[in-house]
Amino acid sequence: MTRVGITFNKNHHLHDSLLNGYPCPENPQRIQNILEYLESSGLIDGEIFRFYDSIPASVMDILRVHTREYVDLIKACTRDPRQSPGNDVYVCPSSFDVTLHALGCVLKAGDLVISGECRHAYALIRPPGHHAGPDSCNGFCIFNNSGILARYMLEKKGLERIAIINIDAHASDGTYAAFEADPRVLCISMHQDQKTLYPFKGFIKDIGVRPAIGYCINMEMPTESGNPEYSLFYDEVAEKILDKFNPQLVILECGFDAYHKEPLAKLNLTVDGYYRIIFKLASKWNVVTLLEGGYHDDLGLLASVVLRALAGLENIKDEVDQIDLLASRHAKTRKEFNNNLSLLKARLEPYWGHI
Ligand SMILES: [Zn+2]
Repeated sequence: MTRVGITFNKNHHLHDSLLNGYPCPENPQRIQNILEYLESSGLIDGEIFRFYDSIPASVMDILRVHTREYVDLIKACTRDPRQSPGNDVYVCPSSFDVTLHALGCVLKAGDLVISGECRHAYALIRPPGHHAGPDSCNGFCIFNNSGILARYMLEKKGLERIAIINIDAHASDGTYAAFEADPRVLCISMHQDQKTLYPFKGFIKDIGVRPAIGYCINMEMPTESGNPEYSLFYDEVAEKILDKFNPQLVILECGFDAYHKEPLAKLNLTVDGYYRIIFKLASKWNVVTLLEGGYHDDLGLLASVVLRALAGLENIKDEVDQIDLLASRHAKTRKEFNNNLSLLKARLEPYWGHI
């Protein structure tokens, strides 16, 4: 059995702000960087890792999460790219078509896993999706890729419990908006302290609404948080709740902007930090990983780390001396992290018991 299937939307380069005359960090070079790195690394062997083609998703799939009015707004913006459907979101004439192809890759990744063809899958897609809610979008996102996959699995494949985990530096506010009242979907977002970073949503106090109170979890990671803090959060909260929820599928919103070289955020994950969490997830559950943010030059390196972790291969040697990162961190960061972790545990105790 092929262990990890990979999909990517081949027309992603048609979604490019340069076509509108201005640059943006969310650009085609991101996936190009990943594909070139994977090719030169020789990692994709056709056995453990294999690329799969996909067909475009349909508008009906988008409507599993988004309103008809919102879909019409996006279409209207593609006809007049001077319009923007949200803050920091651009659209080009082909953007709607690009999103249908991206969603097709996402649904294919889910199908590969559910059918047993692959143990895990990785959809390398753009634009990202986790800031897109049912009727709004922000932050480079147009449609909520993870949410549409979750609803597709619930409605078409008969699944009953799905977890969506966000490891992007930015809070997964669009996903939260889509599932805050849906107890079939457990949303866990670990992201940079929302007093210090866009979208300034996703606070510890935000845990969903009836009938899904406790099923949305937001962990605010203080600036400069790195591998130790992420591991502690995963081990002490995320994994314990996942064990209790027992998802049939995990969808990972995997942004690479929590990495220590990311210019748009202030976190310190290294390849080891990403590897450890994804390895642990993949050792227990079927995981469909989706590319979200990340705007530095190491996206290819990190994508290869994701693949290694999903397949259970050894990690590559970490590229930095983590002592440097630890030494640069203020004691204030750990103190703030410990405080946030305690607050979160107390907030969740009525719904998940003592963790
Ligand atoms: Zn991000």
